[in-house]
Amino acid sequence: KLSKRLETVAKFVPSGAVVADIGSDHAYLPCYLIHKGIASYAIAGEVVKGPFESAVGQVKKEGLTEKITVRLASGLAAVEADDHVDTVTIAGMGGPLIVSILEKHPEKLQGVTRLVLQPNIHAKVIREWALAHNWAILDEEILEEDEKIYEILVLQRGPMALTESEILFGPKLMQRKSPAFIEKWLREKENWQRVLKSIEVADQTPEIEEKRAELGALLDLVEGV
Ligand code: SAM
Repeated sequence: KLSKRLETVAKFVPSGAVVADIGSDHAYLPCYLIHKGIASYAIAGEVVKGPFESAVGQVKKEGLTEKITVRLASGLAAVEADDHVDTVTIAGMGGPLIVSILEKHPEKLQGVTRLVLQPNIHAKVIREWALAHNWAILDEEILEEDEKIYEILVLQRGPMALTESEILFGPKLMQRKSPAFIEKWLREKENWQRVLKSIEVADQTPEIEEKRAELGALLDLVEGV
C-alpha cells in the first residue's frame, strides 16, 4: 500500500498524464499512477544505482515494463524530448534539492504544464523559485504521517503574486489552517524559541545578532497567522 504522502502526490496528477517521477527510488509512485489508470505513461528517474535497480525490479514485478521506463540519470536528465512528459513529480527530498533539480535543465520543462512537488523541508524555496520562473500555485496540501508533516505544492504555468507570509506558509495552506498546518507551525515556533534562548546566552557577534533578528521576524509572522 502506498503511503498517504505519495497518495496525496498522486491525487494531483491529471488524468491521462505522461509523468516523470524524479528520484523515484522503488518507483512506487509511477507504478501506482499506472495501476490506477491515472497516468498513461511514466518515466522513473533515479541517480543512485541501488534505488535504480529496485525501481527496475519493482516495475518488472508489477508487469508494467510497457508503461514505465526507468532511467539512471541525475534529475531532469532522465527526461527525453520524445517522452512528451507533461507532468513532473519530485517527492521526498528537501526543497533546495528539488529547486536545484528544476534549475539544472530548464529546457527539459518545455512541454511540462504541471509540477507536483513534495519537499520534506523548506517548501519556501520552492515558492520563491516558482515566483521567479512564472509558475503559479494551483493547490497545496499539508498532511501528517508517522509524526512527520509533509507539504505538497501543485504548480502550473502563469504569474502569481505572494506576500512574505504566503511565501513562508503557503497561500492556500494559510487560508485553510488545517490541524497539520497548525501543528507544523507550533513545532517550528518552539524550535525557533529554543534557538533564540540559546542565542541569548551566547556571545554577541554581528552574525548572532542577524540570526536573532531573523528568528524574531519569523516568530512575528507565525504570531500573525
Ligand atoms: N520519491 C520517493 C518518495 O517520495 O518516496 C523517494 C524519496 S527518496 C528519500 C529520494 C530519492 O531521490 C533517493 O532514491 C535518491 O537516490 C534520489 N535522488 C536524489 N537526488 C537525485 C537526483 N539529482 N536525481 C535523481 N534522483 C535523485
